[in-house]
Amino acid sequence: MTRKERMRASRLAKLGDVGPLVAASLCRRDNVCGNPNCKCARGEKHKKWCLTFKGARNKTKTIHVPKDMVEEVREWTEEHKRVKLLLGEISELSMEIIREYGPRKRAAMRATKERKR
Ligand SMILES: [Zn+2]
Repeated sequence: MTRKERMRASRLAKLGDVGPLVAASLCRRDNVCGNPNCKCARGEKHKKWCLTFKGARNKTKTIHVPKDMVEEVREWTEEHKRVKLLLGEISELSMEIIREYGPRKRAAMRATKERKR
């Protein structure tokens, strides 16, 4: 294995322990419920957690995240970032392996010729 192939293998191994993930960003919104007697009408707005993501035709969509799930969902978004980074590196390394193939093969052929002499 070449150095690049070893680097790629180590990243592929890291992909082996992928956990739950979600391709979205966690955000918090301040909400007013509309009830004139509620505390939010006096400025103490309701905190709502949500996930935004790109839906069909690249439109940004939002879904509500129940408060009890926020910490867990935060881990899912971080796992997605980790996997995305790994996929990018694996793809980049694969391209470098392709680029190195020709020169490596020519060098190997030259070495064989030298030995035959
Ligand atoms: Zn309210």
